[in-house]
Amino acid sequence: MPKTSGVRVLVASRNAKKLRELERVLQAADISGIELVSLNDVDAYPETPETGATFEENALVKARDGAAATGLPCVADDSGLEVDALNAMPGVLSARWAGRHGDDDANTALLLGQLSDVPDERRGAAFVSACALALPGQAAEDVSVVRGEWRGEIVREPRGNGGFGYDPVFQPEGEVRTSAQLSPEEKDAASHRGRALRLLVPQLAALTDGR
Ligand code: IMP
Repeated sequence: MPKTSGVRVLVASRNAKKLRELERVLQAADISGIELVSLNDVDAYPETPETGATFEENALVKARDGAAATGLPCVADDSGLEVDALNAMPGVLSARWAGRHGDDDANTALLLGQLSDVPDERRGAAFVSACALALPGQAAEDVSVVRGEWRGEIVREPRGNGGFGYDPVFQPEGEVRTSAQLSPEEKDAASHRGRALRLLVPQLAALTDGR
């Protein structure tokens, strides 16, 4: 549950899971005094399409949009999968790799087909998350933008029912399970997004200074 008092911070997402994930990161870092609100809690505003060339650009634009529209500090993220054998693609095109936004099964099937002749030792990949924290009125170059990476490899057949997106074909380094076979807590603790959000903790803690 969102806390009921403190500095309000907008998380530029409608996904309750992302809000809870950031909440757990704040709790683990012992930061109190921040009340997280989502896009469902604020008046709708025009959102710039995600057409940036990098995760960082997309996260920056999303965070600045949110801060400008609401007057609140705003955290935004953009994420995807970078596959070594595809020169870091699908990258920012991860959600629409097979042509239709968010068709996870089609995206995964296309990726497996593209990699069918790639030998085991060259199937490395990383989930990447860029997270930005923008303050109202802040110049683009002053916005904090961080990146978290989670290395692993692309397996040959999907395994597991958890997670979303490419999770059934991504086996994190040091694991025998895919990320779709990890519990939500295990995934949070290791994932690209968790890593990026933890890097923003000092900037988030600074918002509560002097209160
Ligand atoms: P978004 O930034 O959360 O919208 O994610 C963009 C796309 O990247 C998703 O549609 C997925 O295809 C992929 N992706 C990002 N993070 C993950 C993850 O944790 N597991 C699986 N796929 C992911």
